[in-house]
Amino acid sequence: MIIEEVLRQRYEGIKNEAGVYVTPAFPKLVYVLDEHNCLKGGKYDYLTRLAVKCSSKRMYPDYISAKKMREIYEGNVFSPMGCRSFLSPWKDENGNYKFEGRFNQGVVSINLPQIAIIADGDEDKFWKLLEERLELCKEALMCRHYALLGTTSDISPIHWQYGGIARLAKGEKIDKLLFGGYSTMSLGYIGIYEMTKLMKGVSHTEPEGHDFALKVMKHLKETTDKWKKETNIGFALYGTPAESLCYKFARVDKEKFGTIKDITDKGYYTNSYHVDVREKIDAFDKLAFESEFQKLSTGGAISYVEIPNMQHNIPALETAVKFIYDNIQYAEFNTKSDYCHICGFDGEIAINDNNEWECPNCGNKDHSKMTVVRRTCGYLGENFWNAGKTKEIKQRVLHM
Ligand SMILES: [Zn+2]
Repeated sequence: MIIEEVLRQRYEGIKNEAGVYVTPAFPKLVYVLDEHNCLKGGKYDYLTRLAVKCSSKRMYPDYISAKKMREIYEGNVFSPMGCRSFLSPWKDENGNYKFEGRFNQGVVSINLPQIAIIADGDEDKFWKLLEERLELCKEALMCRHYALLGTTSDISPIHWQYGGIARLAKGEKIDKLLFGGYSTMSLGYIGIYEMTKLMKGVSHTEPEGHDFALKVMKHLKETTDKWKKETNIGFALYGTPAESLCYKFARVDKEKFGTIKDITDKGYYTNSYHVDVREKIDAFDKLAFESEFQKLSTGGAISYVEIPNMQHNIPALETAVKFIYDNIQYAEFNTKSDYCHICGFDGEIAINDNNEWECPNCGNKDHSKMTVVRRTCGYLGENFWNAGKTKEIKQRVLHM
């Protein structure tokens, strides 16, 4: 009943300053598909149908497949920390798994395309440079760890003393929570697509590119496992959300190495292991393809499917949700649900040729007079984006 009511209210939306119901960016909703609600005749399928209807209009909820999640996280099903971060399983002194209340010490992301640009097709050079850069990332992550080490619980009682994260004594150091995997530390990565294109000349959806991309992903995962062993700190591999970093890395590389086709000419790098946003691939192939990479990105990742307005074809979306249950741990739908405050237009406000948001009905370009909600990463965004992310959003092709 609670789930039904939450979904019902989300479907309705939240009123904006003009009193019009719009898509709220927060809080995020995550719906877990399990045995009795996976649209195979279970008792709670009616809730899943409501969730799908809600996603078609409000983008949330996103979907976790309990079945696939158990395969990856030692039989556990738990919620992400934020948009996409997942904790590694950890057991307390009584042998019980605990997820709620744990935390992350920090993230450092590696620029994979830059390594490939410098290696220029030479694989020996690539792997050697990758090792060097990974060491640098480790050093940067340890800086974060050392900054936290020795901190006392007094610095934020709500977190460390009253149970937000832990219940430590007054004046007690937080150090014990920094070790043994209680908290995680994330190695982020970006641009698997660009890296593969540079090294192999093809997208990672092509067989040759796929093998190379997977080899690199496995190496990143093994490296975080090795660091974990060495330090007793919960290192994990994390598909960086890259709300801004997708632009920053691409901009830095363009300044340094000039315009390179399909790499620095786009204005952004592709999120984590995702298929190039411009590549034509259908929803089912995309989810199945990306699930292989998601399995390795256990510190966090989310896959998306870009859809048009599907509010009049809910059964098609239900088919996709059923597919998620059987094939991928964590996925989301991106659709468009915007509002123009000037003319009241309620549909997709698109990006014009000058990379400006423009109401197709009245030509309004004033950001303060429109509500535009897009999938930024695992979260929705409504405060507009930097130039690179805007270009990335513009280039997204539909998968359904
Ligand atoms: Zn308008």
